[in-house]
Amino acid sequence: MLNFESVAMRYADGTQALGGVSLQVPAGQFCVVLGSSGAGKSTLLRMANGLVKPTRGTVQVEGVRIAADSLARIRPRIGMIHQQFNLVMRSSVADNVLAGALPAMPTWRALLGLFTDEARRKACELVESVGLQEQHLLRRVSELSGGQQQRVGIARAFMLEPPLVLADEPVASLDPQTSHDVLSLLRTQARERGTTVLCSLHQIELACEFADRIVALRHGAVVFDGAPGAFDPQVFDAIYGREPVPVPMPVPVPAVRSGDHAAEPEAALPLHAGALELAQ
Ligand code: ADP
Repeated sequence: MLNFESVAMRYADGTQALGGVSLQVPAGQFCVVLGSSGAGKSTLLRMANGLVKPTRGTVQVEGVRIAADSLARIRPRIGMIHQQFNLVMRSSVADNVLAGALPAMPTWRALLGLFTDEARRKACELVESVGLQEQHLLRRVSELSGGQQQRVGIARAFMLEPPLVLADEPVASLDPQTSHDVLSLLRTQARERGTTVLCSLHQIELACEFADRIVALRHGAVVFDGAPGAFDPQVFDAIYGREPVPVPMPVPVPAVRSGDHAAEPEAALPLHAGALELAQ
């Protein structure tokens, strides 16, 4: 479905965001790109819809190489969900969801906002399927909560039933419970349709809960690629660059000989700094 072949990215100011990443995402997979800020997640996702052109390597979607002359064909096959929702706040929910159909419309129809009845029906269905009600359709997006706004973002992304959805930190501006609900909704929508999802996150616990596969980046390189179940503390260190916590050596308790003073109780022994960190 999605194939990154040795992609590298050096921005104009010399920042090396990605250093030769190869990744194949099969159809239907919910693949989370995990990493801390600046790891290269956004750059990788934006390469998948041609917003960033790699300085080296190639990206293919459904076997078609992303290039200037193939973008118009590929774009309608990719839905995009953004961290800041990227909705038109002054416009209604319905108009924002309908905007998801624009990449497949002739320019003149798009300019005049001439959506087909079928597109309007689809927008209504999607609004309902993301958990909003009919009365939300004509409401301004600015009047909705953050979680509701991202539901609109999800509905818009599925408007053209794309086989691939890219979600760039879709829950970074939401509280933990809403983040959970929104990711759950995204996964359900994707599973129902067999959609492939490439979703960037920085929260390990959410990645482990929702991903079929986690690809972790650090400094523009893949440091882990596997199932959530294979995640362990060493992987955590590799992603977030924590120094491994030294495992405290067992402190030998001196044998108490008869006639000696009573040995100091164990709790009074100086605690190893690592032991303290482990205990927290
Ligand atoms: P992430 O999404 O993991 O936070 P990004 O892909 O946004 O990471 O950024 C990776 C690196 O590239 C960072 O060092 C960031 O500052 C840099 N970067 C991102 N976009 C640009 C740009 N347009 N120009 C210069 N550097 C950029």
